[in-house]
Parts: sequence; structure tokens; C-alpha cells
Amino acid sequence: MKLESLALHHGYTSEETTKAAAVPIYQTTSYTFDDTQHGADLFDLKVSGNIYTRIMNPTTDVLEQRLAAMEGGVASLVVASGMAAITYAIQCICQIGDNILSTSQVYGGTYNLFAHTFPRQGIEVKMISSDDFDAFKKSIDDKTKAIFCETIGNPAGNIVDIQKLAEIAHKRGIPLIVDSTVATPFLCKPINFGADIIIHSLTKYIGGHGTSIGGVIIDSGKFDWVANKERFPMLNEPDPSYHGVVYTEALGAAAYIGRCRVVPLRNTGAAISPMNSFQILQGLETLGLRMERHCENTEKLADFLQNHEKISWVNYATLKDSPYYDVCQKITGGKASGIISFGIKGNDKVSSKEAGGKFIDALQMILRLVNIGDTKSLACHPASTTHRQLNENELAAAGVSADLIRISVGIENIEDILADVSQALEVV
Ligand SMILES: *Cc1c(COP(=O)(O)O)cnc(C)c1O
Repeated sequence: MKLESLALHHGYTSEETTKAAAVPIYQTTSYTFDDTQHGADLFDLKVSGNIYTRIMNPTTDVLEQRLAAMEGGVASLVVASGMAAITYAIQCICQIGDNILSTSQVYGGTYNLFAHTFPRQGIEVKMISSDDFDAFKKSIDDKTKAIFCETIGNPAGNIVDIQKLAEIAHKRGIPLIVDSTVATPFLCKPINFGADIIIHSLTKYIGGHGTSIGGVIIDSGKFDWVANKERFPMLNEPDPSYHGVVYTEALGAAAYIGRCRVVPLRNTGAAISPMNSFQILQGLETLGLRMERHCENTEKLADFLQNHEKISWVNYATLKDSPYYDVCQKITGGKASGIISFGIKGNDKVSSKEAGGKFIDALQMILRLVNIGDTKSLACHPASTTHRQLNENELAAAGVSADLIRISVGIENIEDILADVSQALEVV
């Protein structure tokens, strides 16, 4: 099946007892054992089945199978948030003394995790601008366990040449982890460009309606952990926390994602609620349709802003003068999703930063908040919200200028979006 159909059908056929056509919400914490032997076999991974909703749930399982199929992976793990997914994806292969490389233009929450939380736990993150491929090559050492990037950086809107980063990573025997939240599988399937592990914040386009927080890690199953044994002892040596199992021997191509489930998720517990998995499944059904409209509306808004006298700059990768125009054709099929950023001109009385604030305050339909990927249009000023903790140098590295306004363009009628932006610019 193609993506649109996988999003509707994969991983579920009418359940046997009730014939329910929609995926049921299995709102249960636990699952009964037939007898003691059955319980023991489940814990030994000798038979498959459910034990406890912190580690698995049948509603969540459908979502996991569907997302893995849509990205072309072997399996996936759905967790409580996008941040939990990123944390677990890295904790699964890193321990104290290790490091990873990351593009510097990343989501604000990811930036804080990488710049402050991981270093205090002994995992160093070296941040490098997404176009500086030489710096990536030179920065890999014996303790480097992965390269991390976002397909389309949030909020910088930079599109990353995943293929080049994957080649650099694979040459040194490390995987490429790609946060593809903004692109979604409809604009890019990173595994086709060599990415090994895909992450999505399901909170954004995939859930799509601003109701539920969730995240996923998808394993391509293609990275050869055994050939790189020395670098990845956690996957190749007996694990005392799971009675001596060697993940690469027990789980083969699903070794990495299996360990994500039975170590970071099982032991630290950022489990998603079955109700949220259900909500996200509803959103996923219409993802393809929504992405078409998000992209179409954003392209029209980009044209409008570019021709407006009060606008000093517009950043959207389908614009011919965008530095990311070519990589957008190569990596995201000439589409750039629904996030656009721009700056408003200042004058002697009002700085461009203040003008941005006035613009945000004057919006009437577009919501003032910090989410992205909702059906509704959303506006924010990162320098005073999501990226508030960053100093000036850090802001510049993240691609966030003080005057940057970000709009996550929704699926409203474009005329209403243009009318709201237009009247707010009049007020400024
Ligand atoms: C929102 C976001 C995250 C974090 O996801 P949560 O579900 O909010 O934890 C990670 N990466 C990107 C690109 C995001 O936009």
C-alpha cells in the first residue's frame, strides 16, 4: 500500500470478538497470564504478548506498526512525548564518557537537552552548523555514538542534506538519527537517504489537532551494530538488567528498538497513555491531506509576505532565493511543510523586535502559542518564548534572530490567513 492507505489500514484488522472497525482503546494497565509458566515465558521473551502498559499496549502497538510501515522501518517505539523519544534514542546507545554530534539548528527543547542535561550526565553533544560537513567529519572520535539532525530545522527552516550526513556517519561506523517532525513521511522518508533512526514528535503534524502529546522512535533495522561491536557494547554484550540477554543475538535487526523498549522505557517509564495513542491514530489518518493544504497555504503566504513593504526578510525553502531551495528539491520533494519565518522592518521609533511583538498582539484569528503542526494557524516569537533561555551567540547558532516571527500555517481558507496577517501588519 501507498502512504495514504497505510495511514488508514496498516497494523489493524477488525478485532475478532467485537469486530470493531476503529482501533479500540485498550485502557488497561495490565494483562492476565494464563498460568505461571505463561508469565515466565512472557518475561523471558520466549512468547510474544502483553505484560504491562508501561512497556506495551495494543492500541499503541497499532500506532507503532503503522508509523514503522510508513517510514519503511522494521519496528518502532511510541512514547509519551517527542522529547522522551529523543532522550531514549540517544540513551539507548550512549553512556557516561560518550558523545554525539548534532546540527546546531534544532528545536529549543532539544537544544536544552543537548546543551545542559546530557552533559551533566556525562554525554557530550558537539553542535555543528548543518552545512559544515567538514566539521562533522573532523569531530567524530572513538567515543562518538551518533550524528543527530532535523530534516527541516525548527524554527530555522534549514533543510539538511541527510544523504551527505548519513555517508559521513556510515564511513565511521555510526548511525544517523533524524528528527523528521516538521517534514513528516509525506515530504521525506529519511531512510531512503540513508538515515538509520527516525524520530517524530507525534504532538505536531502526525497527531495534527493539538490535542495529545506523543513521540516515536523508528528503527530502519539497517544499521550493522555487530560489525561495530566495540563502539556499541550495550547492544552486543550481555545485559544484566535483562538477565544477560545480548540484544543483537536475541532480536537481530530489531536489536536497537528492542533495547529502547526494555531498557530506557521500561526503567524510566515515559509511557504514552492508550487514549493519546488513539487520538494520534485519528490524526494520522488524514496526515496526507493536511500536509497538502499546509504546504499550499504556506507557499501562498510566503509569496504574500515577500511582496509586502513592511517585511524585511522571509525564510521559506520553496522561495527561489532561499539558500535551501536546492536541498529542498532533493530531500523534501520541493515542498517545505507549514513553518515559515520572517522579520518586520523597524524604524527610528520601533525596533524590528518590538514590531514583531506588536504584530503578534494584533492577530485576531491566528493563535498566539508555541506549538506547531496544528490544523489551526499558530504564531510565536521564539526569542521571547521557546528560545528564551539561549544567549545571543546560541540564538545565532540556532538560526533564531531577535526579530524572527514564526507562523505554523494551518489548514484554514488561505484568504482568512492572508486577511489576518494583512490587518496585523497594518497595525504595526
Ligand atoms: C515539538 C518538537 C519536539 C518535542 O516534542 P514534544 O512532543 O513536544 O516533546 C522535538 N522535535 C521537534 C522538531 C519539535 O518540533
